[in-house]
Amino acid sequence: MISPVETWVAERTSLQGNLNPMTLRNWQIEKLNDLISYASENTKFYHGKLHSTRDITELPFTSPSDIAADPFAFLAIPQSLITRVTTLANSGTTHLKKRIFFSKADLERTIDFFAVGMSTMVRKGEKAQILISNRTENSLGSLLKESLSRIGVTSEILGAIKTVNVAIEVSKGADCLIGMPAELLYMSHAAPELRPSSVLLAADYIPQSVINSIKETWKCDVYMHYGHTEFGFGCAVDCDQHNGYHLRDADLIFEIIDFKTGKPAKIGDSGEIVITTLSNEAMPLIRYRTGNLSRFINTPCGCGSLLPRLGRIEGRIDSNITIGNGNSVSIHQLDEIISANPKVLGFYALLKHVGKRNILHLTIDASNYIDLTTLTAMLPPELNIEVSYSKADPFSHREKRRIHIGNSNNDVAK
Ligand SMILES: [Zn+2]
Repeated sequence: MISPVETWVAERTSLQGNLNPMTLRNWQIEKLNDLISYASENTKFYHGKLHSTRDITELPFTSPSDIAADPFAFLAIPQSLITRVTTLANSGTTHLKKRIFFSKADLERTIDFFAVGMSTMVRKGEKAQILISNRTENSLGSLLKESLSRIGVTSEILGAIKTVNVAIEVSKGADCLIGMPAELLYMSHAAPELRPSSVLLAADYIPQSVINSIKETWKCDVYMHYGHTEFGFGCAVDCDQHNGYHLRDADLIFEIIDFKTGKPAKIGDSGEIVITTLSNEAMPLIRYRTGNLSRFINTPCGCGSLLPRLGRIEGRIDSNITIGNGNSVSIHQLDEIISANPKVLGFYALLKHVGKRNILHLTIDASNYIDLTTLTAMLPPELNIEVSYSKADPFSHREKRRIHIGNSNNDVAK
């Protein structure tokens, strides 16, 4: 089946049977010029910075710190028309918070895209369990629930979960589980008997080892979603061929740039994902640097789609922690190696600087002691590895995966 996302793009752009990479690009350029006028006229930030163009690379970038410095400079509608505000930490400058605004129409477009994306993996009459977000009005979870109800799928949002056992209990009988990669991996090890038909991994970077492990345990289809709050949560979702994300092209323009030079990356090369919103009413964003790394896939998808897709998210530019001698370590590296071990349910990583030594302390939740030879061989020699074995239930302190920096094991739980 061709990805429902592609069918949706064909309808939303009115290109229908004429949809191909060239016609889509031309359509997006027309929309881009409408956006340039809209953002120039209605926002303080873009006023005087933009000009109409057929080449998006002529336009300046927007960085997360620009939003953190003055979120209201991006607001294109009166404050009375804001339906939702989300506050996010800015990973670059941690003391500043980004505020993201949505109008009712912005949220409606998100629901519309979620319904299309979810129809890739669930059918009318099925049941989904949402293990991310909460039940607050217009939260990510609530928007997802609304989108599912529009395609005839019942769903529940669990909200505050503190242990894997609660997550397992509420997920019994669900056809589709939607959650964070490390949490669903942990659940699959703790409850191999659950056996949902499909799983959607979202809200964090997705290691290939986690996809493989969940598939192996639950014998289910594992889908990936890529999103950002800044663009209305949903950006892209893969199809049943699992060969790259199909893009929300009717609302967003995707670019991949060389993050050092800012120039477009060569087709197929890895670089930073840059996104422009074509439809955001409350907060238009032009060439927004996401900090995430990926590459375009330009070969046709097995589902029949001819449009470019996004490859796996390969990590974040700022997730590499330098440990001297030009060497670095990242959570992505650790996840790919450690989570590939079937004995490992989960783990935390803590980097400590003791005198001149860098110590990577791993708290591993495993059914048995594991052999770390492969890991040690792949990490820089100046990194000393310590291991302890204990519970590492990701539901007990829910967050995106990262290496914690600190001086004691207690820091892990913060
Ligand atoms: Zn496809």
